[in-house]
Parts: sequence; structure tokens; C-alpha cells
Amino acid sequence: MKKIRVTIWNEFRHEKTDEDVKALYPDGIHAFIKNNFEIDAPDFEVTLASLDDVECGLTDDVLQNTDVLMWWGHMFHNEVPNELVEKIADRVFRFGMGFIAMHSAHVSKPFQRIVGTNGYLSWGEEQQELIWNVMPSHPIASGIPEHFELEMEEMYGEPFHIPQPDELVFMSWFKHGNLFRSGCCFYRGLGKVFYFQPGHETRKAFYNQYVRQILVNAVRWASPENIAIKTPDCGFMEKLIK
Ligand code: ZN
Repeated sequence: MKKIRVTIWNEFRHEKTDEDVKALYPDGIHAFIKNNFEIDAPDFEVTLASLDDVECGLTDDVLQNTDVLMWWGHMFHNEVPNELVEKIADRVFRFGMGFIAMHSAHVSKPFQRIVGTNGYLSWGEEQQELIWNVMPSHPIASGIPEHFELEMEEMYGEPFHIPQPDELVFMSWFKHGNLFRSGCCFYRGLGKVFYFQPGHETRKAFYNQYVRQILVNAVRWASPENIAIKTPDCGFMEKLIK
């Protein structure tokens, strides 16, 4: 089976400074997801990258050998260089690299650049969340029940300042009444983008079997391996006209 090359990028600061986060994700959220993939998706070839790595861990070589880039960032979005953001967007638009924004990556620079809005949302205290599968026929919803529960998760609510998603796969209900579009797909250039809301650093979303399944499904969906048409050729129409 052909390997899918996944790079998991994590800000990786909370895990070093906050005891509660360290207890849940001792080697970082990115390493935790990698460990899950080793069990759930052995055909994934995973590279880890973080903010404090040289070039944020995303050298040209790493980006060129990434089928799907996953992103978790929270407090230090502004430390990601704009030049790198442009390179990431270019990989998505022209080469079909998949991009998966997790949780607070809704205001990460790459997500904002790729989808085209600021990604702002309503925010509230941690509470019970039900995630509803509103598009069961979508590949990312494969194996996911009608709904599942996260006992405690940070509340993200509408209005969520994103373009209308091309496909809305999950919606969430929060105990205090808020609703949220928690699983959104966007097509940008040749690339596929998925935003998924769970994943607060002091909660156990990444331990949940359905969250794990959704991330595996999302990587498979976003992988560019079946794109036959590569970068559009600007001289194409001229050739046709001749
Ligand atoms: Zn959070």
C-alpha cells in the first residue's frame, strides 16, 4: 500500500510549560496523534514539526514531501513567518497538499490565508459537547455514529467567520446552548482543507475513538494522490487556439 505522508505541526509550547497539558500529552499533541496513527493507520508515514524547530520544522524539503499537513496552534500564531504561510498556501493551491486545521487553528495564519477569512468565532467555557454527523455519506464521516459525546470540551460557537463550507460534515451542540459548525470542508485550488473543532489542550479529545477515526478519515480524504491534473498551464489556451 502506498504510504500517505503526513506532517503534524504543533505549536508545542503548552506541553512544556503547563503541568495539566503535560500530563495528558507528555510528548506533545503532535506526538500523541502520531502514536494514534501508528495504531489506527499504519500506512501513514508521519513527520513531526513544531514552532521552535529550525524553520518551524517546515523546510522546503519537508513541505515538498508532505501529502497532508495537520496544524495545531493556539497562542503564538504570529510567530509563524508570513513567508512560510505563503509556501504552505502555494503547496495547497498548486500542488494539492491537504491541510487539516485542528481546534484553535481556526485563527492560524495558514488557515486564514487558505480559506480567506479571519476565522473568528464565539468562545466560551468548557462544557459537554455532542458532535452530530450531518453528512454520513461523506468519506470523513465513515464509521462515525449519528452523534457522539465529548464529556468536556472548550465551547466554540457561531457565528464562525468562515466562508460557507463546501461540505459540512459535523455540527456540534454545547450544553449551555451554543451551536457550531465543527467539521467543515473547503476546496482551494487543487487542495482539500478540513477544519475540525475538538482538541483543547487540557481535555482528552484526542483520546476519543471517534475523534481518532475522523482524523484518519480526514487525512485519507485530503491526500492528493488521486489528482491527475497538476498545476494549471497558463499557455494551455494558446495551444488550443493554434
Ligand atoms: Zn482550546
